[in-house]
Amino acid sequence: MLTQSRLPLAALEAHTRCLRAMAAERTPLTRLAKLAGLSPPGARLRGLSASGGHCAATAHRVRVLRALWAFRLAPAGRGRAAARVRGAHGCLVIVLLGLLGLFGQAGPPPEAGTWYTIGQSVEGRPIQAVRLGGGPVRLALMGSIHGGWEANTQTLVQTAYTFFVAHPEAIPDGLSVYFVPTTNPDGLAAGSGRDAAWNAHGVDLNRNFETPNWSTDSFGQVGGRYGPSGTRAGAGGPAPFSEPETQAIRDFVLGERIDAVLSYHSGIVSVTSRDGGDDPAQPLAEQVAAITGYPYIKTWTAYRLTGQFMDWLSAVGCKGIEVDLPNQQDIDWDKNLAAIEAVMAALQAPGPGT
Ligand SMILES: [Zn+2]
Repeated sequence: MLTQSRLPLAALEAHTRCLRAMAAERTPLTRLAKLAGLSPPGARLRGLSASGGHCAATAHRVRVLRALWAFRLAPAGRGRAAARVRGAHGCLVIVLLGLLGLFGQAGPPPEAGTWYTIGQSVEGRPIQAVRLGGGPVRLALMGSIHGGWEANTQTLVQTAYTFFVAHPEAIPDGLSVYFVPTTNPDGLAAGSGRDAAWNAHGVDLNRNFETPNWSTDSFGQVGGRYGPSGTRAGAGGPAPFSEPETQAIRDFVLGERIDAVLSYHSGIVSVTSRDGGDDPAQPLAEQVAAITGYPYIKTWTAYRLTGQFMDWLSAVGCKGIEVDLPNQQDIDWDKNLAAIEAVMAALQAPGPGT
């Protein structure tokens, strides 16, 4: 029998987050878990960071079930009779959840080099991804979360895909590399002005992730996409992951068990990991900064950050590196190709800093 002590609490926290994510989608799996009272008390685990907690289709469900089982059968300071009732209850639910999990499995992974859709925008545009390479370590290059306002980041990721198709030998054997040129296709279709930075609900997608500092009002560089005030009411969305685009990003990262993300922005010139740094992504971000010459900024002080993609990635155990290009026209290809290749090499080589 599994016991709670055999499961790292950090991993349980990661899966608790996934369970909450599933709850937000009102999946039958989670509805059943909630009805059975099996949602682990996230508050008890808050503050623990996840380490390597990735959740993909079957493997994820098995781990969630194991976590739930352990939680149910190893409560501290309860009576034996109550434990037996909870145990029987847990067994029934676990069988049902397992059946649902089996029927709910995703299909086989897409072939390398085949574009596939990971979600849809508010206006129904597809968000597309493609994988090259077949190694166990998974890196994703993601562009244009700020739509047409930072359209050159879509060009950069698309150019990287074209390059690696022509140079497959440049991808280390141990790596799979995913390319998502735009995560905000409605913004990308909306021109190149400030209003093209948001999704079709007017939400800043990079302020819509579930983090402890999420806020419905959000903030940005004065004179940048946030205009002269540097503030935008409601741009964090009505709730974390309220937008189909951020839901698609979340499900892609967790579903494909992505280990590291290079997320591209433009117009500020910086490299960051989670705000405050001191995470496994920081050495990679510093390496990218050294190669590109863009400054690594450990803690952002220019304005208040809320609900950021990088901070959510760090919380779910994925190394997030945000690269902000110097302007909104050029892709600075030579420097960024060198940085991508350096990150690939670092991820390929296990050891400190990776
Ligand atoms: Zn941006």
